[in-house]
Amino acid sequence: MDADLSREHEQLLEFLYACPVGLVEFDAMGAITMINPHAMKHLLPVAGMRDPGNLFAMLEGCAPELRNLLADYPKERGGICEGHRIAVDMAARRSGKDPKVLACTMIKLGPNRAMATFSDITVQVAQERRLKQSESWFGSLIAAVNDYAVLSISADGVIEGANAAFARQNGCAAGDVTGVPLDQIVSVTPGSGVMTVADQLRLAERDGWYLDESWQVRGTGERYWCQRLFAVRPELDDRSAPGFFVVLRDVTRDASDTSDLRRMLLFDHLTGAANRTHFLQLFEREQRRWRDARQPLSLILLDVDHFKSVNDAYGHPTGDVVLKQLTQLCSATLRPSDLFARLGGEEFAVLLPDTALMQAVAIADRLREAIEALVIPVAAGAVRITASFGCATATDACGTVDGLIELADVQLYAAKHGGRNRVHGQAHRSVEA
Ligand code: GH3
Ligand code: MG
Ligand code: MG
Repeated sequence: MDADLSREHEQLLEFLYACPVGLVEFDAMGAITMINPHAMKHLLPVAGMRDPGNLFAMLEGCAPELRNLLADYPKERGGICEGHRIAVDMAARRSGKDPKVLACTMIKLGPNRAMATFSDITVQVAQERRLKQSESWFGSLIAAVNDYAVLSISADGVIEGANAAFARQNGCAAGDVTGVPLDQIVSVTPGSGVMTVADQLRLAERDGWYLDESWQVRGTGERYWCQRLFAVRPELDDRSAPGFFVVLRDVTRDASDTSDLRRMLLFDHLTGAANRTHFLQLFEREQRRWRDARQPLSLILLDVDHFKSVNDAYGHPTGDVVLKQLTQLCSATLRPSDLFARLGGEEFAVLLPDTALMQAVAIADRLREAIEALVIPVAAGAVRITASFGCATATDACGTVDGLIELADVQLYAAKHGGRNRVHGQAHRSVEA
């Protein structure tokens, strides 16, 4: 009987090792008790210098939320997340390659035992992204032909005409909007912060079309979730500048559903800052704009100083509160057009469109001072922190997203090396504390 059992155990181990899916078993703190070769292949490159014996430490740079997902899971056992997507590899974006994405399914097996699977879904995600937009449009073309509101727009963004469906959808007469600038009628995606309606028309002009969605308000004051397609209008008359069509679709579902889903997809679970995936998407968009329009584009990376000792002294939950407060403070200090994002653990980034390096350094220093002045009351007294900053701006020599992140990272490292609580900017003197 014992021999049978041990044979079975052996077979199970053989299976785990040969299994083409990454498998990791770990305790409540993330300490790994079993990891198969497939999981190692995915996770070791992500871990960098971090502790390869701890799952949460390994993934801290790209999925800091995993730790919280497990800690917040209320039941003794059960499925915590399924196919949770983790964008792991910024370097893969170099030369336009698709970023590597892992799908993680995490199961709690007991009070101090959990298991996770990891599989590489990079190709699937890239295909999905390409398919999703066209599919959603063609699908609904068949389902709801009547419910397309169409606006005709002049080259300079003024509404020239609206169809009857627009009047129905928005509760106004079509004639009411003629002559009105388009940006008074539609708003841009909340949270993107960096796109105006004019920008969207410009992208439509460049690519032939552009898709966006946001809340739209009807004449009655009621709001609905609206998807918009901006398309270049074919001109019959060659001499006039091309205008645009804007097609609007009412896709209102349960309102809370939509905003919860959006929040989960775009924002970090703990702090509410933009997550890494959202940040990279907007960064790429801004970087394309920089290439086309040559408006300056800068980046700030910030990393909390000695954060490990905050956790050690006050506990991890207090550390979490500090990260939340830091996010609130920075978001309130920044301009609406800046994007504040959590890249991992205690590392954040600010994307600054239309901002030159000197300004970025000044903004970073304002954040630095605000963080230094922040006092966070906790049960055991008050916590104070400082942070170090690295700033960089897009130039021809580093025209890619990765190039700019690397530049800012070098500056951040220099700020840490120079004594922390300071700002370093590429080719600039440091602003000292
Ligand atoms: P340095 O000044 O060099 O940046 O020192 P540091 O201690 O901040 O840097 P280190 O990278 O050694 O430690 C980062 C710490 O951040 C360790 C990790 O446990 C903690 N951390 C990462 N994510 C979270 C989180 O979501 N919540 C909490 N409370 N702590 C986190
Ligand atoms: Mg740190
Ligand atoms: Mg760090």
